[in-house]
Amino acid sequence: MPSRPFVLAETNWKSLKDTPIEVAVLPWGATEPHNFHLPYGTDTYETTALAERAAEFAWKNGAKVVALPTVPFGVNTGQLDLRLAINMNPSTQFAVLTDVASALAGQGVKKLLVLNGHGGNDFKQMIRELQPKVDLFVCTINWWTCIKATEFFDEPGDHAGEMETSIMMSIVPDLPRPLSEAGSGKARKFRIAGLRDGWAWAPRHWREVTDDTGTGNPKAATVDKGEKFLRAVTERIGGFLVDLAKADLKNLYE
Ligand SMILES: [Zn+2]
Repeated sequence: MPSRPFVLAETNWKSLKDTPIEVAVLPWGATEPHNFHLPYGTDTYETTALAERAAEFAWKNGAKVVALPTVPFGVNTGQLDLRLAINMNPSTQFAVLTDVASALAGQGVKKLLVLNGHGGNDFKQMIRELQPKVDLFVCTINWWTCIKATEFFDEPGDHAGEMETSIMMSIVPDLPRPLSEAGSGKARKFRIAGLRDGWAWAPRHWREVTDDTGTGNPKAATVDKGEKFLRAVTERIGGFLVDLAKADLKNLYE
């Protein structure tokens, strides 16, 4: 397999020494159970694949973008009692993000996208605190929000449901267990109306919410749905990376 110049872990100094990188993408996943049928690394696999595909799209369209290695640990404070769910606290994530951003800034990379693939991670507040401290532009995308999933799936689900299962069937076809082994992904709702309806918020205690660790029914997942959705998300994020690479940071507003 030849090395891909837009994937940092695969490329080399010979290729990068005279190639100014315009945008770095930091994919950020999680390590946690995903119903009975998907692997613990689901968010990490998905976000890595999307970062690499979007960087490739941008590269082919003339933008010098590189996907950094994926951070595999997410905020999982609501899953600490689920075996081998590995939590990384927001304050630790902030320290990691600050170090990565500072290294890039010191090397003349001017733009960083944090590509998030886990619902428990939230980079907005971190970026608000980080931005004035570093000399590079930092932005974030939660990839599952940039395309309307309901146009691709009957019931996308939010954790190990139809959307994630379809994506995994497409990117790592040997890893998902047969759908016959998956739980229903039934999620219990809050009894308090405001929390149930979403205008009030509190983190959920996962073990009480679901019996199989999934939230969302995976049964209607197919490879084909996964591929179509991935293509749409790749083009959306890839197009954003092209725009970001071209953008004049001193002239961002119309
Ligand atoms: Zn997930």
